[in-house]
Amino acid sequence: MASQGSQTISLKVLIDKLLYYAHGNHSESVRLISKQPQPATIGSLTNLYKWVENLEEQFFQTEACKSMLLHPRNPYGKECRKLKLNIDDTEPTKYYICADWNCSRPDEYESDGLYSTFKNVRCNCGEMMDKEICMAKEDVGARAERDGGVFVCGTTKFMVTDDLQVEPISPATIVTLLHKLGLGDMSSLQETILSIGSEEILNLLKGSLFSKTPLTDVFLRKQGFTYEGIKFETEDAVQSKSSTCALMRSMNTQDVTLKLMTSTSMDKVLYAEAGEDMVDFLLSFLTFPLGSILQLLGGNSSMGSMDNLYRSVKHSKAMRDYELRDMLLNPGLSRGFGCRSNPLGVKESEQSAPSLWCRSYENGKNKDDPYTGYLSTEKSNLSISPSGDCSSILRFVCAGHQGFLKAPATFRVMDNLVLKPLVSRWSLSIVKQLKVPLNDLEVREINVRREQGLRLLKAFLFSKSLLTDVLPAMVNFDLMNSKQEK
Ligand SMILES: [Zn+2]
Repeated sequence: MASQGSQTISLKVLIDKLLYYAHGNHSESVRLISKQPQPATIGSLTNLYKWVENLEEQFFQTEACKSMLLHPRNPYGKECRKLKLNIDDTEPTKYYICADWNCSRPDEYESDGLYSTFKNVRCNCGEMMDKEICMAKEDVGARAERDGGVFVCGTTKFMVTDDLQVEPISPATIVTLLHKLGLGDMSSLQETILSIGSEEILNLLKGSLFSKTPLTDVFLRKQGFTYEGIKFETEDAVQSKSSTCALMRSMNTQDVTLKLMTSTSMDKVLYAEAGEDMVDFLLSFLTFPLGSILQLLGGNSSMGSMDNLYRSVKHSKAMRDYELRDMLLNPGLSRGFGCRSNPLGVKESEQSAPSLWCRSYENGKNKDDPYTGYLSTEKSNLSISPSGDCSSILRFVCAGHQGFLKAPATFRVMDNLVLKPLVSRWSLSIVKQLKVPLNDLEVREINVRREQGLRLLKAFLFSKSLLTDVLPAMVNFDLMNSKQEK
């Protein structure tokens, strides 16, 4: 972990069973957790992450799309940088402009230039935008409020149960909790103060995702966590709210479909085929913050103790303000990460990216790079001065065109949720390999809407087998729905 090695926070634990407080952000969790000495696996999400790592550049819309998926941004990284112990080691946003200064300085046609927050996005002129440029006022000095709190008031003390229910501490909450735990006698409790650093926080993040008793597991038993023991429940409620249909219509999302090859006699899904739009949707799971995943799954995520933590934030009266609470409960995507294949309706946290002013001035010394510049949210008084100083407006440009993969592309979705590019010349041999008579094969096309999308999201979190865990349920759901529509 970068530069935070010596920073620690203290935690008072009452041992018999109980306590502490943590805050976490997700999509990064896959990366952070897989980087640990004893990496943990999150369902099939870890496989998907590795798949992106190994997928050849030619499949991506732009070079930047791959790095977007491997290093998704935290839409509220600025807030997290205020935390005393921040385990999110992603760098602050960087800005890139075209290597050719003519594109970022005003021209006779007064056309807008471009800037990107990812390296190597293509400029209007056809060149890559790879020149890093600084922002005038960055939030370098992000600091907690005066009382030391970031999301909650620093003066409030909290009690955190072993299963991560968080409440402001008071004699009443202590007595209620001790009663709940069936403890009649305070003398059996031992009080200890633990010093917690980045490593413990990372373990606690793992514990919160995998365990119902993360505090005991991390601080007393000091055990590792495995994915085993977490069961994927096909019947798990994936509720859809009627209001979401209207929301979906209002958003510019496209339908995504999944093709299933089934055997009529065996009543079994043999394999699934997905186009780039469907795979884009699956890949977008890697960019969802944990808060948004918990929100989508409506408090029934079954991820360790995360649902309790989520509920505590939802009902807490100790949050600094409502805006911060909403941010934790439904963070949304970082700017530029919105995907057109979006049956779940996850929105970007900031509606539109601001246009920025590029101020540049001649430096004369370097012939290869004759100007020096920086970005600013404010326009300077001069549009162009005799000395060559100028200010021109740059528009934000996304790394991908609301998707990650190049179209058209087809992938075979393997049982372990790994995707394999389908090359048309292999199609015949794949059908042969199924070893099922042709008249027994049926191709079903499933429209993936919100319910189906939630099933797939859950499958990626918990399941390692697509064919047995998810697809049969999806087929049944589809059959039921088409009957209803008739
Ligand atoms: Zn250019």
